[in-house]
Amino acid sequence: MTAPARVSNSAVDAARGSAELIRAEAPVLAHNYHPLPVVVAHAEGAWVEDVEGRRYLDMLAGYSALNFGHRNPVLIEAAHRQLDRLTLTSRAFHNDRLAGFAESLAELTGQDMVLPMNTGAEAVESAIKVARKWAYEVKGVEPGRATIVVAADNFHGRTTTIVSFSTDETARAGFGPFTPGFRVVPYNDLAALEAAIDETTAAVLIEPIQGEAGVVIPDDGYLAGVRELTLRTNCLFVADEIQSGLGRTGTTLAVDHESVVPDLVLLGKALGGGIVPVSAVVGRRDVMEVLRPGEHGSTFGGNPLAAAVGSAVVGLLRTGAYQRRAAALGVLLRDGLTTLVGRGVVGFRSRGLWAGVDIDPSIGTGREISQALMGEGILVKDTHGSTIRLAPPLTITEDELGTAVGALEKVLTQGV
Ligand code: PLP
Repeated sequence: MTAPARVSNSAVDAARGSAELIRAEAPVLAHNYHPLPVVVAHAEGAWVEDVEGRRYLDMLAGYSALNFGHRNPVLIEAAHRQLDRLTLTSRAFHNDRLAGFAESLAELTGQDMVLPMNTGAEAVESAIKVARKWAYEVKGVEPGRATIVVAADNFHGRTTTIVSFSTDETARAGFGPFTPGFRVVPYNDLAALEAAIDETTAAVLIEPIQGEAGVVIPDDGYLAGVRELTLRTNCLFVADEIQSGLGRTGTTLAVDHESVVPDLVLLGKALGGGIVPVSAVVGRRDVMEVLRPGEHGSTFGGNPLAAAVGSAVVGLLRTGAYQRRAAALGVLLRDGLTTLVGRGVVGFRSRGLWAGVDIDPSIGTGREISQALMGEGILVKDTHGSTIRLAPPLTITEDELGTAVGALEKVLTQGV
């Protein structure tokens, strides 16, 4: 019997141009995204290349999943080495990579225990379950009555429970019935938070900086205030650092800016080095220990490939070099954006290498600005209205950052 001829998908796709590939998606791909019209085929560091060979500076970095750049050589090598040894066991058996990963991640974050998952939403779901169980077993909340307080304009993922407490109608409409047990208060408002907490409260779940909302940074003292309040009222502080964590803001975690240690920290995105989905809940031993065998799990969570890549990610962060780089380049980004205020930029918020930039709506929508920037070889993503967000790989150079700010200046001057 002769073997069937091998047809390489990449060879087939290479023969098709961007426009053809985009057209090919529509009839077969669910329409839950509205991507910019660029078809990426290769990437390295802070740069991506489309199927026609055009290069773009990636100022989104996979929503911070690519903090260490595309195909970071250290991470790729760790993945390759692991691919040649062992990729999956399930948690039915131990694997020889998981303990080291958990130890290193706990040490990096100053926490005791790690619950490995895959996607960010899964980490959030896992924390909700842990917090509720802690409320019943430790705090003594009446069965079925635990509540969790969250902030308006949050983004924690897309599962039915998570969209149950979203305030974004687009994320919710048509997906009910919703999971009860959540109270929504304004972000950055300690008085409202305190008023929402009562004897049923298991946890306060917030983003230390709200990413999808437009990189919204709370006032100094807010995170420390949440810590003080949750300690005083005996409920857990759960910090969703899935987008803000792992170097992005110039520190390992965004809560480090206020020297705050939450009870549970949620990590994802960059933990997988842009190679595999890796997420985790890291937290206090006495809280995490409410989970017992059989009560929670995931086939892929903690798999050896994920653990090997995750360990290499922790290795990169352990030196502090990426955090320092994000802080130093963050100053340049802020300086560059400051020069644009009043010249097309209405205002911006930034911390480290992360910025939400409000563009004068008379110039264009966030989408139009993003498309115009694409024409200048810069990839960004809009959030709401005329806000764009900048979150380049932390490996970006000073010159590249200057190129991005220069392109924004050009687009704002010329119009879209
Ligand atoms: N939490 C935050 C703060 C996020 O920004 C995101 C994704 O953008 C998530 C959770 C969900 O992560 P995932 O898309 O991996 O489920």
